[in-house]
Amino acid sequence: MPEIPDLEAIREYFNERIVGVEITQAEGLIPHVIRTGAADFAATLTGNRFGTTLRQGKFLLMPLADERILVVNPMLTGRFQYVEPKQKKYAKTCFVLTFENGKQLRYSDALLMGKIYVVAPEQLATLPVFGEMGPDALAVSEEEFRARIKKHPGQIKNVLTNQKFLAGLGNAYSDEILFEARLDPFRKRSTMNDDDIGRLYAAIHKVFDRSIPILRDHFRDELDYQEWREHLKIHRKGAPPGAAKDEGRCPRCGLHISEISPNQRITSWCRNCQK
Ligand SMILES: [Zn+2]
Repeated sequence: MPEIPDLEAIREYFNERIVGVEITQAEGLIPHVIRTGAADFAATLTGNRFGTTLRQGKFLLMPLADERILVVNPMLTGRFQYVEPKQKKYAKTCFVLTFENGKQLRYSDALLMGKIYVVAPEQLATLPVFGEMGPDALAVSEEEFRARIKKHPGQIKNVLTNQKFLAGLGNAYSDEILFEARLDPFRKRSTMNDDDIGRLYAAIHKVFDRSIPILRDHFRDELDYQEWREHLKIHRKGAPPGAAKDEGRCPRCGLHISEISPNQRITSWCRNCQK
């Protein structure tokens, strides 16, 4: 699932390349993903131009010259490509935008769970999930973070990934943040003291400050986005069955990384370093 670092890097990539460039052709290929209608999508985007792409939580907001906004929520498997038209299209390509510079921006989605809208700015708050999101995890102040987290007593990983608490954190980066903060993902927030909460807030910025430049470099040339997770320290870094003895160890203490996957969502952590 694309999370804040992925979407920040993609957003910057777009802003360096497509701002003000005319869209000469717009095709909505898989209508049900385009919630506001494929015909309206094509009619609105053809001949239009993007302004500066913004991000709120896991939504990309791509404002258009006519003041409407293309909103993309890629969910689990939404992927972007910015390529030459001759490059092969993915099977589940939902839309293709062709620009006057000859390049194409494509969005594909293997599970078709992503959601795309073209809306006026005042309609944003009515979109599912969007209107109920908490402040963005990258923008929230420490004071607001401390105040909001008091209302969530449950297991800390569930709190972090609750979009109503904070927008933008998903399964992978919440594991990284909890590893950085040395907090057990299953620990109840109600057992955490002020120091723990401060360490957690600092860890969000440490993890993002390290990850965003790595992804930015990764997308420098051609954007053909597949999940890039090499730089993560703990999430899905456990040893697979039959791995060598030195694989899957905590980069901090050297013990084996623990992994469980309730509800098919893998949580990885170190039982020694994270209390
Ligand atoms: Zn450890």
